[in-house]
Amino acid sequence: MCLTFHCPHSLSRRDAFKAAAGFAVTASLGSAEAKEPSAGQPASNAIGADAALSLLMKGNVRYVANRPTHRDFSAGRAERTKSQYPIAAVLSCSDSRVAPEFAFDQGPGDLFVVRVAGNFANEDGLASFEYAVKFLGVPLVVVLGHSNCGAVDAAIKVIEENASLPGHLPGLVQSIKPAVEAAKLKAPEDLLTAAITENVALNVKRLQTAQPLLASFVQNKRVKVVGGVYDLATGKICLLS
Ligand SMILES: [Zn+2]
Repeated sequence: MCLTFHCPHSLSRRDAFKAAAGFAVTASLGSAEAKEPSAGQPASNAIGADAALSLLMKGNVRYVANRPTHRDFSAGRAERTKSQYPIAAVLSCSDSRVAPEFAFDQGPGDLFVVRVAGNFANEDGLASFEYAVKFLGVPLVVVLGHSNCGAVDAAIKVIEENASLPGHLPGLVQSIKPAVEAAKLKAPEDLLTAAITENVALNVKRLQTAQPLLASFVQNKRVKVVGGVYDLATGKICLLS
């Protein structure tokens, strides 16, 4: 059941992307601006955000029903060395137990995926989405949280119980704290679920308003950013309304 969601059923990576853009795009990275599959033909991912979202949600229905599309993973492999046309970019959590390609029943190259524990957009993640939108022509960005998220739960324990974490984990938790604080203000019965929702919503907002690039693409309706939560038990993805 989806309580809080609408349910329709050497070089840093950033430098590498910048370098790729500056050199007007190598075959391995591709480019929406440079790519033209053939003269006069639109790129195969130039389908608009709503159509892309519809494809993803229909794919999720197949995934939930355990009726995924039969795929030949070797087909198109050579072609994908020259270009790529992902229909969506997805920000998902490292511990969500499922790859977005499975959860949305999409094939190789169909999704541009950034995963980090807690599915928040850090600077490198943001740069990755900028690359996907500007140079790959991605029409849709999905922030995908999931139920029982260990990273969000860790942030709650740090705030509520003064738990201490080793290594670099405090820095990661710091990025999730705003969602926990926002959820606490609503005094929910289930703080974890509420914080997971807030975390998705905050990161949708962050990507929608990220200057100078994504905000401009959003305002010009060249890309849409939406949020959703994946339920571990059912596999169902519910979109935030
Ligand atoms: Zn998680």
